[in-house]
Amino acid sequence: MAASTAPTAAGANAVNLEQSFNNKNMSSELNNPTQQDVHFMNEAIRLADESVERGGGPFGAVIVKDGAIIAGSSNSVTLDNDPTAHAEVNAIRQACRNLNTFCLKGCVIYTSCEPCPMCLGAIYWAGIDRIYFANTREDAAAVNFADGFIYNELERPLNQRSLPIIPLLRDEALHTFRYWAEKTDKTAY
Ligand SMILES: [Zn+2]
Repeated sequence: MAASTAPTAAGANAVNLEQSFNNKNMSSELNNPTQQDVHFMNEAIRLADESVERGGGPFGAVIVKDGAIIAGSSNSVTLDNDPTAHAEVNAIRQACRNLNTFCLKGCVIYTSCEPCPMCLGAIYWAGIDRIYFANTREDAAAVNFADGFIYNELERPLNQRSLPIIPLLRDEALHTFRYWAEKTDKTAY
């Protein structure tokens, strides 16, 4: 989910991201999920149950566009030996493949658990309009999924985190961003 943008372009993207999500959460209709919302969440929970049955992680997610499910997946971290194969990321990949796009504007994701920081980032980058979640991060922590720990890490300054994160060769790397910023025939996102 790395964003390959110049410092200026990254700033512009951040503003765009912020603008596109601005204040949507204030809308009161969001507090009244429809029967359809309940149906889609039940499907996400069903996928999670099925996943446990198959030996995968207890998480499921579906992505809906125009009232129809366009992707549905469960967590396949252990089955695929892929620590990034969370239900939401798997569903985003599937939805983007199905729609042949990297942008899921107009889509809603229903996930059986509050997204971890990785999935939340992926959902933002995908441009998904809305998230519904069932289990909370505290529910996940109670069965030993440490999403809350990562959320807590993000609030700490870089030099106080448990995972060392060390700046190196910034000047040498900046030329790539200048190259990107100046390139006129790029696919911006
Ligand atoms: Zn996740």
